[in-house]
Amino acid sequence: MDYKFVYDEKEYILTEENCEGIFFDDENEVTGLSLDTILGALNDGEEVNFSKEYYAGKCECNTQEEINKSYRYLEYHFYIYTKNKEYIINTLSEEYKTTSFNRLFSIGKIDDSYIVNVTVCPNCGTYSIDIDQCTV
Ligand SMILES: [Zn+2]
Repeated sequence: MDYKFVYDEKEYILTEENCEGIFFDDENEVTGLSLDTILGALNDGEEVNFSKEYYAGKCECNTQEEINKSYRYLEYHFYIYTKNKEYIINTLSEEYKTTSFNRLFSIGKIDDSYIVNVTVCPNCGTYSIDIDQCTV
């Protein structure tokens, strides 16, 4: 599964090859969540728009311009919901359109939420995925 998007007239393709990895918080690893699931979610999303974000870490391609001691990336985030730390549903899915966090939570289908940050180097197109527990 690949995901393509265009930003500033440049096309980016997110694949397994240019992914640096999926990174979780300490002790907060989600099971049942693959890169395919995440790229599939981006493909399912109808209004996925990457925007500029700045981070202190520089990409390995070493070509980003330094701006106020940070470097520009393209970022997009969405949410996933879990039960017993196992992946259940993402907020970009067709299935999620007809439900909500509160509804799924109240019937015991899910018990926690995580933010999925997709961060792309605008120069070389390498990207990483950071998943952090967060409260809805
Ligand atoms: Zn780079």
